[in-house]
Amino acid sequence: MSELEKIINECLGEEPPYCQAACPLHIDVQGYIKMVREGRYDEALRIIMGVLPFPGIMGRICTHPCESACRRKDLDEALAIAYLKRAAGDYGTADKPPAGGEEKGKRVAIVGGGPAGIMAAYDLRKMGYRVTIFEALSCLGGMLASAIPDFRLSGDLVQEELGVIERLGVEIKLNTRVGDDIAFSRLRESFDAVIIATGAPLSRKLNIEGSTMQGVLWGLDFLTAVKAGKAPKTDGRVVVIGGGNVAVDAARSALRLGAKEVAIVYRRTREEMPAISGEIEQALEEGISLETSWAPGRILGNDGKVTGMEFMRSIQTSRGENPAGPVLDDTMIKRADCDTVILAIGQQTDLSWLDSAGTVTTGEGSIRADNTTLQTPDKAIFACGDVVTGPKSAVDALAAGRSAAISVDRYLRGLDLTQDRDAERQRASRLVVSIEGYEKKKRCPMPALDVEARRRNFREVETGFSRELAQSEAGRCLECQCKTCIRDCEFLKDLNETPGTLARKLSDGLFRVDRRLAYRCNICDLCKRNCAKGLSLGDMFMEIRQAMVKEGLGPLPEHQFVKRDQDFSTSDKFALVHCDPGSERCEHIFFPGCGLSGYSPELVIKTYEHLRRYLPNTGLILGCCGGPTRFLGNEPRFREILSMLIAEVKALGNAELIVACPDCYHTFRHCAPDLRIRPVSGILVEHDLPVEALSGEKQVFSLHDSCKARWEPEWQDSVRALIRKLGYEIEEVENSRDKTRCCGLGGMAPYADPELAAVNIRKRADEFGHDILTYCASCREALSAHKPALHVLDLIFNPDWRSTKTNPQKTGKARRDNQARLKQTVQERYHS
Ligand SMILES: Cc1cc2nc3c(=O)[nH]c(=O)nc-3n(C[C@H](O)[C@H](O)[C@H](O)COP(=O)(O)OP(=O)(O)OC[C@H]3O[C@@H](n4cnc5c(N)ncnc54)[C@H](O)[C@@H]3O)c2cc1C
Ligand code: SF4
Ligand code: SF4
Ligand code: SF4
Repeated sequence: MSELEKIINECLGEEPPYCQAACPLHIDVQGYIKMVREGRYDEALRIIMGVLPFPGIMGRICTHPCESACRRKDLDEALAIAYLKRAAGDYGTADKPPAGGEEKGKRVAIVGGGPAGIMAAYDLRKMGYRVTIFEALSCLGGMLASAIPDFRLSGDLVQEELGVIERLGVEIKLNTRVGDDIAFSRLRESFDAVIIATGAPLSRKLNIEGSTMQGVLWGLDFLTAVKAGKAPKTDGRVVVIGGGNVAVDAARSALRLGAKEVAIVYRRTREEMPAISGEIEQALEEGISLETSWAPGRILGNDGKVTGMEFMRSIQTSRGENPAGPVLDDTMIKRADCDTVILAIGQQTDLSWLDSAGTVTTGEGSIRADNTTLQTPDKAIFACGDVVTGPKSAVDALAAGRSAAISVDRYLRGLDLTQDRDAERQRASRLVVSIEGYEKKKRCPMPALDVEARRRNFREVETGFSRELAQSEAGRCLECQCKTCIRDCEFLKDLNETPGTLARKLSDGLFRVDRRLAYRCNICDLCKRNCAKGLSLGDMFMEIRQAMVKEGLGPLPEHQFVKRDQDFSTSDKFALVHCDPGSERCEHIFFPGCGLSGYSPELVIKTYEHLRRYLPNTGLILGCCGGPTRFLGNEPRFREILSMLIAEVKALGNAELIVACPDCYHTFRHCAPDLRIRPVSGILVEHDLPVEALSGEKQVFSLHDSCKARWEPEWQDSVRALIRKLGYEIEEVENSRDKTRCCGLGGMAPYADPELAAVNIRKRADEFGHDILTYCASCREALSAHKPALHVLDLIFNPDWRSTKTNPQKTGKARRDNQARLKQTVQERYHS
């Protein structure tokens, strides 16, 4: 697979953050948190309202799967995402509700006005359908309005936010129970599509001994009665059985209604309780006790009235081990005295009202709806929310309502219902975001009423973040994203595209329109080093350059200079193969490359002579590895140059090449893996150095690693060892070794974008506090524009380095003159 294809397939640049991927509605959590952090509450609210028109409701009761997925939880604690949504609702001003879309002339009936039905109605109305909700109760909201107690979610707030549905033009028929007040079959006939969203309104029954006695209540029935102001008396000792939100809400409601003592008993562990954990904590604060790993045995009574309850110990409670229920030890029995038992062990659906049940229900009485499209076997009937899944959560119901609306729209327009539905699913983000280097900071606790102030009333317990608290909490967001490659690259920053998008555009032929683009990259591999997937934009741009050369689109006219230099380096004016006179084979071959030769012929000669002192029978090849041609994308010409060189090495007995330039080294490593190569610094450090080069002074140099040596620890280590052996100290900048940054000249980029190159050169030079040492002649030349700079060989073989360190970069002509002078010197010295 080409690098371009790999980037298209694997780049995570557009991957949503963990929170957003886990949110069933995929709200841009990071986006609104950023707005809250900046105190821009209207904008925060606008982001939320674009997806979810009920921020106040969901800011209070959402089960927030986003928080369970939040990356910050691996550092300290998850962001308080739901509370920040509430803050956006509290302090932001919403735009007017969106207008209904262009009328489509089709009618959709929705049975049930809970979250699932409401969301479907909202979306379908926005699309232009005429929507009617049939709701059995006297208000919209389903469980949110009829069961969740006011101390968590006030009925007024629910009605205020749901008002948007009516304002949008949805027809609402309250107090209309389908099955009783209107037959389902009539809806089916008179509407173009029907959505069933009737929830799970029945308390699940537990047939244990004593469950019909006076004083036994059922969780959901109890809560709906409380909400309707018709609560039964619960002023004695109350035991609540269950571990979900219904159980905890029932316990807290009983306490507020005057119960003396309230205990929640759950058959599994606390960690396995499905209730929102913050709610459990508040219940405990309020004095409710919690007994876990005890399962209900029987209810005890006297004269048909509850007096207590018996429990059995549960062992192996884990849901994973025993999905059907924990294993019970009936030898371990415990009793509790009580006057009321509230059984809150779950809810179930009620489909008794469905007159055409057979077609859309299973034998067990649940709806048969496709997992993805939510369509039932009757193609005009859809179902969503708790009625399909069993009791889940409000956000799941909202998301299901949205999916149902998409399906109904497609069905009514005769489109494929199944295409591209994956994005709707809740999923785990593929991001790989490091938490290293972040300071720990605890999550801001939600301000709440004192325990005393909440005891005997239904006032809302959580009072909401102040603006300051919200902004401080929002500041904890790690802004998870994968644009790591872009962060450190001026070129990618300037492009302002994710690599995936860029690769797709290039694949669609962008390089034919923007011929400069691929040549602006330094091919420095920093992006690859920073990318968790190891993707290399440099490799991708190399592929593009090659494709451009094939199509006659590359290189650019500005690259004529490179071509001239390259032709010179491979011509008789510079190229030379030298072996000790009288010998045809060498033990080693010194290969200074065209860069060092153009920089200083003296350094080449002196280095060569020094090497021969320790490694007799070392030859010398003057020439070019072909790197510049390769970087221009001219692969055939590059292969020609490289093959000539390989043939020369072969002719000298396949000796080991002692390479003086990291660029050449990189080229050989990747394109001629059979060549035996070693960096010159690795050889030099193993032998004595000229005595006059050893320093008595304590000078510090800033060391610049060449980007082509990024993956070459032998180069990096041996250069450092060499500098220390000479007696100097090294300033290691943060971006060194594999994190090094390009000097700005890499990849022939300056010819395509001189301004960008100037920015890169300055940026790199500014990282250094001392005179700069490099081990690549081109890097030395680039960085000398801003700071005194030397090649490490200068310190050994150039006695005048103190004055030459400020020499400006050589022109192309000066470099070619030096190369020619070097060849002449070699010929005169060894062959005359
Ligand atoms: C006490 C309690 C606390 C909860 N706490 C939370 C919480 O903190 N966070 C959270 O996310 N979730 C919570 N939930 C769960 C959440 O409320 C539900 O998952 C969600 O309301 C399901 O939405 P729905 O639209 O599928 O069904 P419902 O909300 O049940 O709505 C169904 C609607 O259909 C109507 N209906 C039924 N039959 C007919 C008919 N034949 N004709 C006309 N109308 C009909 C009902 O009256 C109801 O209004 C809680 C549930 C309960 C009971
Ligand atoms: S680092 Fe860059 S190339 Fe790599 S996955 Fe992230 S965005 Fe894509
Ligand atoms: S840290 Fe911020 S962006 Fe990352 S998952 Fe958490 S809320 Fe989302
Ligand atoms: S300049 Fe370097 S870091 Fe930037 S895209 Fe090119 S290879 Fe990657």
